[in-house]
Amino acid sequence: VQSNGNGSLESHIKVPKIKFTKLFINGEFVDSISGKTFETMDPRNGEVTAKIAEGDKEDVDLAVKAAREAFDHGPWPRFSGAARRKIMLKFADLIDENIEELATLDSIDGGKLFHLGKIMDIPGTAETFRYYAGAADKIHGETLKMSKELQGYTLHEPIGVVGHIIPWNFPSIMFATKVAPALAAGCTMVVKPAEQTPLSALYYAHLAKLAGIPDGVLNVVTGFGHTAGAAVSSHMDIDMVSFTGSTEVGRLVMQAAATSNLKPVCLELGGKSPFLVFDDADVDKVAELALQGSLFNKGEICVAGSRVFVQEGIYDKFLLQLKEKMKNWVVGDPFDPTSHQGPQVDKKQYERILSYIELGKNEGATLFHGGKPCDRKGYYIEPTIFIDVTDNMTIAKEEIFGPVMSVFKFKTVEEAIKRANATKYGLAAGIMTNDINLANTVSRSIRAGSIWINCYLALDKDVPFGGYKMSGFGKDLGIDGLKKYLIVKAVTTPIYSSPW
Ligand code: NAD
Repeated sequence: VQSNGNGSLESHIKVPKIKFTKLFINGEFVDSISGKTFETMDPRNGEVTAKIAEGDKEDVDLAVKAAREAFDHGPWPRFSGAARRKIMLKFADLIDENIEELATLDSIDGGKLFHLGKIMDIPGTAETFRYYAGAADKIHGETLKMSKELQGYTLHEPIGVVGHIIPWNFPSIMFATKVAPALAAGCTMVVKPAEQTPLSALYYAHLAKLAGIPDGVLNVVTGFGHTAGAAVSSHMDIDMVSFTGSTEVGRLVMQAAATSNLKPVCLELGGKSPFLVFDDADVDKVAELALQGSLFNKGEICVAGSRVFVQEGIYDKFLLQLKEKMKNWVVGDPFDPTSHQGPQVDKKQYERILSYIELGKNEGATLFHGGKPCDRKGYYIEPTIFIDVTDNMTIAKEEIFGPVMSVFKFKTVEEAIKRANATKYGLAAGIMTNDINLANTVSRSIRAGSIWINCYLALDKDVPFGGYKMSGFGKDLGIDGLKKYLIVKAVTTPIYSSPW
């Protein structure tokens, strides 16, 4: 179904004037040294939304210098945890006060559903800052039992200047996922947002300043990956890099870290996650979950359950349910509250997805639903379902990052586990069954960082998230997401025996 977008748009929404388009360095919005800018586009129509300062190596150098100064001599790492908490809570409140504008920015930059932005992305961003604000005064080491002449303890210190490189699919949530724990730890940082979606990160920088985060602690350098991004990952004065993006670029980031100053990296990369449906599952409920699991955020989500394996006993029934549900799936303007799916982020991504759909047809998969661009302006693609897909087809192996689901049939539990694991990725998996023993066995057999039993996309700020295999390493979110921004120092002193 396609919405016509006429009359049903949230009438009070006017795209706000874009207020922040410059780099944010040392507490000020500044032009790039080169004076260059790049255009950010609205995927609803391909039109230019704003011209954004194009940061490059020299700008990253300036931002790192500010972050280094703030780390080595500024108050932020030296504040008590309680003082950092207070400022971070203020930051979270300011985010809540600007929900509508921030959600609008992510919609016009990334094609994200505005109604979900207002209830999910932006409040979730504020809550992530609150979650880590609550952790800021609970960072402590251990007292160590050593041989009788020595005593020791550990200090969990902020790791230093952090580089955050983030993707475009969840601009706000990714910003909070990276920045909030690093702030709580006492780090200072340089954020490089994705070039497709720079708007909200700059707005967050403005709010951070209003909240009282000292100058130099949080710097945002907008620009391209091969220039500004590469300057972050190879910088000699950045102490750690936290990256979310493709496996391909993750490898480059790790290489740059290794050949520069051996900085540790945390890599959250791509996926090709299996969604397993066993014969005893509630087909109606599970078909809905499968759709959400692979089409949510127009399939531009790293944990998309894009390989749906259905046990043979309910396979036909499952397909019938999918067909029924697709009748109500609305592709439309992200500001239309009835839309389930907005436009893909940009032309490049749109064309990439369409080429995968063509490849699926050419390799012999059967098109069960969709399979074409939508007949309207903008980067809209029909939600697409392939059946008769074999495990060796390209669409079964490669991450498409679009609204494309492949459905497979399986017979036995062993077969399901084997085929689910037959991927270079290991980000997430869904297990749909009412048999607790089966759910437990399969959970332990799947090599992936997040397992969802009878639910999917159950991501939460409290729960550590991160991949196995080529989906990367290190954890975001939860208390594990804070630990990577801390470094452990061991302090040892002798205990002299006393005459008393
Ligand atoms: P991408 O790897 O192209 O870009 C991610 C970021 O890296 C951007 O900011 C980009 O400018 C930067 N970058 C590009 N080249 C670089 C280089 N040579 N050096 C340093 N930085 C560079 O990915 P994308 O297209 O923005 O996002 C899609 C990918 O991200 C998908 O593979 C998806 O699965 C993955 N992703 C993973 C997670 C996760 O948590 N595991 C979450 C969201 C997205």
